[in-house]
Amino acid sequence: MNRELRKTVIAGNWKMNMLASEIKAFKDELMPLISGYSAWCEAAICTPFVLLPSALDVFKGTGVGVGAQNMSQHESGAYTGEVSATQLTDIGTQYVIIGHSERRQYYGETDESVNEKTLAALKTPMTAIVCVGETLEQREQGITNSLVTKQVETALKNVPGGEELGKIIIAYEPVWAIGTGKTATPEDAQEVCKVIRDVLAKLYCEKSAASITIQYGGSMNDKNAKELLAQPDIDGGLIGGASLKPDAFAVIINAANQ
Ligand code: PEP
Repeated sequence: MNRELRKTVIAGNWKMNMLASEIKAFKDELMPLISGYSAWCEAAICTPFVLLPSALDVFKGTGVGVGAQNMSQHESGAYTGEVSATQLTDIGTQYVIIGHSERRQYYGETDESVNEKTLAALKTPMTAIVCVGETLEQREQGITNSLVTKQVETALKNVPGGEELGKIIIAYEPVWAIGTGKTATPEDAQEVCKVIRDVLAKLYCEKSAASITIQYGGSMNDKNAKELLAQPDIDGGLIGGASLKPDAFAVIINAANQ
């Protein structure tokens, strides 16, 4: 983390878990545990679409933001089952995860569709959490850095510099670490996050690159968060499993606040 240069963001990805009726109890358990929670660390929960109105209501005024886990690249029209960026912002959604590896793996999302969605999200006030990361096979082939470079370059194609970049977070999520309990070592995660920052510097400039939040995601939990967040280019986390447990999620938020 480097708090002088960029914000720290801890975002929970609830995936297809939780019920509307369970959100208040989650909030009631979480909030007292993060009472020292301060302005330089943002925290958010990304919920299934159907839970967004309840989550926005429950977390209103707490300082914890609410995000979606996906969105359509289209503005409106005949796209049955899809939800647009404008529909998300219309109800007050503040974040949206784009290109999560589960979307890429199970729903055919590509670097190109991730780019289209990122551009669509930027037309709204939402912050886009753009996910990149390699599979185990790709890591073993030694192509992690080149693959992640291409993912970032394509995701940000035609994204202008300047203020728009303040609404972009890059989440480095090695696919082999997601939901597996296997975490990248802090050094390995740092190495790829630094590669991402160097790509951002080439696409924009050093100053812009230094201002962009880069999260690590992949089995981050209450035990390993502190060490991962201590790395200079890791500015937060995208947390799956551990974000479903208020006590574990609170430990991670507090680790980002130290
Ligand atoms: C995720 O869903 O983005 C994620 C990192 O999951 P987990 O923390 O469970 O590995």
